[in-house]
Amino acid sequence: MQTPGVSGYEEQKKVMNLSLAAAIVLLAAKVTAAIVTGSSAIYSDAAESVVHLLAVAFAAWALRLAYKPADETHHFGHDKVSFLSAGFEGAMISAAAVLIFYEAIRQMIFGVKIENLGFGIIVTAAAAGINLALGLSLLAVGKRSNSTLIRANGHHVLTDVWSSVAVLVALGLYKSTGWTYWDPIAAMLAALNIVRVGVKLIRESLGGLLDESDPKTEKEICDLLDQETGKRGLSYHNLRHRHSGRTHWVEFHLVFDDDLTVGQAHEAATEIEASVADLLKPDGRVISHLEPKSAEDHEERWEER
Ligand SMILES: [Zn+2]
Ligand SMILES: [Zn+2]
Repeated sequence: MQTPGVSGYEEQKKVMNLSLAAAIVLLAAKVTAAIVTGSSAIYSDAAESVVHLLAVAFAAWALRLAYKPADETHHFGHDKVSFLSAGFEGAMISAAAVLIFYEAIRQMIFGVKIENLGFGIIVTAAAAGINLALGLSLLAVGKRSNSTLIRANGHHVLTDVWSSVAVLVALGLYKSTGWTYWDPIAAMLAALNIVRVGVKLIRESLGGLLDESDPKTEKEICDLLDQETGKRGLSYHNLRHRHSGRTHWVEFHLVFDDDLTVGQAHEAATEIEASVADLLKPDGRVISHLEPKSAEDHEERWEER
């Protein structure tokens, strides 16, 4: 059996380290900008940066754990921690959104006094640029390596780009109209968008932890199995599929003619397993149960599969 997807690990570690470095630099920059401008939109951006750093640090730790091979105490490897990480990112940014909302309402009631606008705009624009480049490369790496963890971090970072864009628009409108309420309004819109992404991440994380079925991959496996069993004159049933972060686990029953030897049946089963594993690259684990036609159990009961 191949080593579980180690090929993509270095690339993922690299982009996650970049994400961590960006989180630290942008936290310092945004906190400074929030203090010197007094803008509630920039403050919201800075508040998000604090939990952002926590979320990325957790993801960086989880990534290392996810690639730890299976051992005596974790027979199926450790990559389910990826779902936990996605859920943690979702929960953290949702908490930030609540804080942002609170601050925006406070500023709406007690008024806003914005200073050093130019500095705030420069920092926010630079942050948006950095996060845009980072978020897109996280998504690309996440897609390539089929990593829930990296993709979740990418979606989160891109959310922050939108928050920064909202801040820039608000500061621009404030500058041209002089109406200070643009600032908290932008902060609230950014918060709503953060909650939207946060809920999506939590939802995805729960789905993954509960081995929610994935109809698209399942259809691909079914099509392949139809083809592979069809050309050998076999049939299959009780297909089960789940994925734990990046590893796909598949099992099914294969039905053979009674007079085939175990050796012959095993050979065909091994070939079929290999082609399914190939479909689920980089890490597909496939196991089949062999049975003779005379003993075939046609009933498909989920709870007994
Ligand atoms: Zn963030
Ligand atoms: Zn069966």
